[in-house]
Amino acid sequence: MKTVIPAWEVPAVPVAGSAARFPVRRIYCVGRNYAAHAREMGGNPEREPPFFFCKPADAVLVAPAGETVSMAYPSATRDLHHEIELVVAIGRAGRDIAVERSLDHVFGYAVGLDMTRRDLQGEAKKTGRPWETGKAFDRSAPIAPLRRASDIGHPAHAAIWLEVDGSERQRSDIDQLIWSVPEVIANLSMLFELKPGAVIYTGTPEGVARVDRGQTMVGGIEGIGELRVRVV
Ligand code: MN
Repeated sequence: MKTVIPAWEVPAVPVAGSAARFPVRRIYCVGRNYAAHAREMGGNPEREPPFFFCKPADAVLVAPAGETVSMAYPSATRDLHHEIELVVAIGRAGRDIAVERSLDHVFGYAVGLDMTRRDLQGEAKKTGRPWETGKAFDRSAPIAPLRRASDIGHPAHAAIWLEVDGSERQRSDIDQLIWSVPEVIANLSMLFELKPGAVIYTGTPEGVARVDRGQTMVGGIEGIGELRVRVV
């Protein structure tokens, strides 16, 4: 294709055990999907319908296995927060997907961070404005290499955790998700046509907190992977 300005590379995530990458089309995120986190954010931990927001595809920051990736401290915030999350990668298109069929659309899983400018998000909530400045900034979506569902299956129980400079900040289990992965996919596919390349950040457990320049976040999900991100 001839383009009038230089075209960019499609953002893409490594796949464990493969030289080929998973191209990212869109990033969807689920809000408040662990009861204890809903409570710490002053929300209702009841099972309200899931809600979604997006980040641009080029917000991904790949954290290669075994490496520490640097994340530049974002502009315009004094309250950058970590949110460790299970990430689902969609490999097959669909809309109005039934819960029972939804896992057929999953290519694989990864651990990721939904980095948040909490001060800007808080301001947006107060004024009823969109969340983009709080959530959709550059490099706001660190992600470790994907594991194929064909290799690891579809984990429903697994420890999820995050440490900052060696001290534990977040620990839970993905079985604590208010809306399970199949339910998230079914719900999301009623709102958007899911296409290959969609990635879904499924929500964070309790313990979200501030992270500053010079600190290193190490997080993981049992059986899925780990990531190391240093804020610089
Ligand atoms: Mn989140």
